[in-house]
Amino acid sequence: MVEQEKKPRGFIRSTRQRRVILEVLRGTNSHPTADWIYQKVRDRLPNISLGTIYRNLKTLAENGEVQELNFGSTFSRFDGNPEPHYHFYCQRCGRLFDLFEIPVDHDLTARAGNATGWKVLGHRLEFYGLCGECAKTEGQDGTETGSLQNDK
Ligand code: ZN
Ligand code: MN
Repeated sequence: MVEQEKKPRGFIRSTRQRRVILEVLRGTNSHPTADWIYQKVRDRLPNISLGTIYRNLKTLAENGEVQELNFGSTFSRFDGNPEPHYHFYCQRCGRLFDLFEIPVDHDLTARAGNATGWKVLGHRLEFYGLCGECAKTEGQDGTETGSLQNDK
């Protein structure tokens, strides 16, 4: 197409990079870190840098195509599903699960708006504890629940 030929080479490369990053992220439900995404994308684009991954993830998040999740951690995790939904964080294995069973409570957002008179656009709600697998093995290794990390 003539239109595409006019586009500078750099534009086409960055479009391809962004598409591959999006495919990798949409292909997992593990809510990976940028570093994990970097390792996977490198299988297909060996010359890509971690900085390019970060830059593209930031753009994708700004465009509302992915979500950046930061639960008080030092590093973000990314979600290829841009629709609002809740998550459950397992404090033992560190896995982050989708909690589609609990619909997003828009009433909670409205109540915060009513309580303040401010323009409340949404809310973040994080569930945490032990996932099914970790709850099953709890106590078997002598670890006590009290030792769990809760950095909130
Ligand atoms: Zn777990
Ligand atoms: Mn999710």
